[in-house]
Amino acid sequence: MNNNPELITPPLIQVKSLSKQYQMGNDIVHALRAVSFAVTSGQFIALMGPSGSGKSTLMHQLGCLDTPTNGRYLLNGRDVGQLSRRARATVRNQNLGFVFQSFNLLPRLSTLENVMLPLLYSKGTPSKNSASEKEMAQAALEHVGLAERVQHKPTELSGGQRQRVAIARALVTDPALILADEPTGNLDSHTGNEILALLTTLNQNGRTIILVTHDAQVAKRAGTILHMQDGEIVRQSHGEASS
Ligand code: ADP
Ligand code: MG
Repeated sequence: MNNNPELITPPLIQVKSLSKQYQMGNDIVHALRAVSFAVTSGQFIALMGPSGSGKSTLMHQLGCLDTPTNGRYLLNGRDVGQLSRRARATVRNQNLGFVFQSFNLLPRLSTLENVMLPLLYSKGTPSKNSASEKEMAQAALEHVGLAERVQHKPTELSGGQRQRVAIARALVTDPALILADEPTGNLDSHTGNEILALLTTLNQNGRTIILVTHDAQVAKRAGTILHMQDGEIVRQSHGEASS
């Protein structure tokens, strides 16, 4: 008898023959062509490929922002590919943290309020003065080295600081998976390296991360690199991270 939990626990992600087609006038665009792979908890994965290879389409599928044309997506063993829009929003809020190239912070809210937002959504009833949510947001900001900037507005922060706020917002719900689409795309290389170092530290502390990039220098910071081309994963290679 084997009691190794790895043999019983399903992978965090199982993608099975996932396809996505878009109708463009009379043409069908095959953005994903029967993609299959698995991710175990604690891995740091880079999805790398040239522009148009399907990276963002796959990221939208993994993020439950869209549904596939064919195939299956299991998250923690649960088939989440064909859920309703509302059910997908719940899956996102409870399991996923997002980091985007353009930061996607709300300009009128303070740093602290931006980071609190996912907690307010998950409660369903936004109230600005919940002490525990403030404390959780404060802790997430400390985690990314921005404890001193809680009252600043996004416009009062540098690009690197804005991306740190976005990472704190992704972390605050303690998600099983962080999805980052070109997180260094709007940053100079020095600042981009600091953000990649932060993601590496989060991964070393046990976070599962999927990073999307067209840049081989960025991808090599991950542990496993999945190379995409024309809607397919054509190759897998190792990066610098241990997982
Ligand atoms: P990447 O992120 O690697 O640049 P995308 O996933 O954005 O690639 O796009 C993959 C392919 O799907 C491209 O040919 C793109 O033009 C097409 N595509 C992406 N989104 C849509 C859409 N909403 N409607 C039609 N075609 C799309
Ligand atoms: Mg893209």
